[in-house]
Amino acid sequence: MNLEKLQAWLGKNNQDIAYISDPITIAYFTGYEMEPHERIFSLVAFKDAEPFVFTPALNVEEAKASEWNGDVFGYLDSENPWEIIADKVKQRTNEFQNWAIEKNNLSVAHYQSLHEQFPNADFNGNVSPFIERIRLYKTPEEIKKLKGAGAEADFAFQIGFNAIKTGVTERSIAGQIDYQLKVQKGVMHESFETIVQAGANAANPHLGPTMNKIKPNELVLFDLGTMHEGYASDSSRTVAYGTPSDKQREIYEIDREAQQAAIDAVKPGITAEELDSVARDIITKAGYGEYFIHRLGHGIGKDVHEFPSIVQGNDLVLEEGMCFSIEPGIYIPGFAGVRIEDCGVVTKDGFDLFTHTDKDLKIIPVNE
Ligand code: MN
Repeated sequence: MNLEKLQAWLGKNNQDIAYISDPITIAYFTGYEMEPHERIFSLVAFKDAEPFVFTPALNVEEAKASEWNGDVFGYLDSENPWEIIADKVKQRTNEFQNWAIEKNNLSVAHYQSLHEQFPNADFNGNVSPFIERIRLYKTPEEIKKLKGAGAEADFAFQIGFNAIKTGVTERSIAGQIDYQLKVQKGVMHESFETIVQAGANAANPHLGPTMNKIKPNELVLFDLGTMHEGYASDSSRTVAYGTPSDKQREIYEIDREAQQAAIDAVKPGITAEELDSVARDIITKAGYGEYFIHRLGHGIGKDVHEFPSIVQGNDLVLEEGMCFSIEPGIYIPGFAGVRIEDCGVVTKDGFDLFTHTDKDLKIIPVNE
C-alpha cells in the first residue's frame, strides 16, 4: 500500500517521522477525507512504529468509521493539539530526531508549534517531492473514479449548452449547471468554480463567471469539473451562439487541431515539453502563438491540479498510468477566447480520455 511506500521512504532517507498535513495527502494515504478548516488534522507516520491520524474531537468517530483502520486521536477546542500530538509520538517511539514535513503545505505557524514540542529535533526533511512522485502513477481504481468524474463533466456541458440564450448571465448558466449536477447526479461539489465566459470575457482564462449577459454571435467558453469519490474532473468546451464569424471559426479550428495533435502524440516515452510543443507549434505556425498564454496541461487526480506539468522546460518522460489535461487555448483580448480541454491517462500506446463531449464546433441557434 501507499503508506508502506512512505514508511520505506522514511527509512531510506534517514527520517524518523513524517508529519502529513495536507488533507488531500492524508486521504490518499488513509482513505479518510475531511476538510478541517482552521483546526488541526494530520497523519503521523513513523519509520518503524504504527501511524496514527489526529483530528478535532468532533471528527474522531467519522475517522474511525472510514476506510482507515489505524489509531485515531482527537483534541477538544479547549486543548493544545500540539501537546497531545507530542505525547502520542513519545508513547510510540524514542526516535523523533528527524522529521519530514510537507513543505508545500504546512503553515509556518503550525511548523513552529510542532517544533516547540520537539525543540532539539530537525525538521529539514521534505516529503512533498516524494508524494508528488508516487501520486503521478494512478491505479486502475483511481482511473475508474477519474472516468466517473469525467462522465459528470460531460453531463454538465449538456446542461450548460441548453441554458444559453440571449440576455441570460454567465453566472446564471454556471448556477444552472451546478444545481443540475446536484439534483440529477448527486454531485457534492465541483472540483473548482464553474467557469462560463462569453465574448471578450473568455480572453481572460480564469475570469468569472460574471453578470455579463450572453449576446448573439459570441463564442461561449465553459471550463468545469466535479469531484467524484474523491477524484476530480476538469474539461473545457467552446461553442458558438449564433453564426460564428470567419475569425471565430478560424481560431476554434486551429485550437482544435492543436488539441487533437497533442492527444494523438501521447505515448509512453514522449516528454512533457515535447508534448507541449506539438500543440504550441501548430498554434504558432498559424500566427497565434502569442495568444496561447499558458502551459498545455496539468496533472489530475485527487487534486484538480497536480503533477505532471505539461510545460516547456519539463523533461519528465511520460509513462503509463500518468493522468493529465491537454488544453491549448487562444485568447485574443477584446475579441474572444477558445479553449478545448480533456483529461486522460497514458496507456501502453496512447491516451485514454475521461471526457467525450463532441468537439466539432457546436452552433447554438439564437434563442431570444
Ligand atoms: Mn484544466
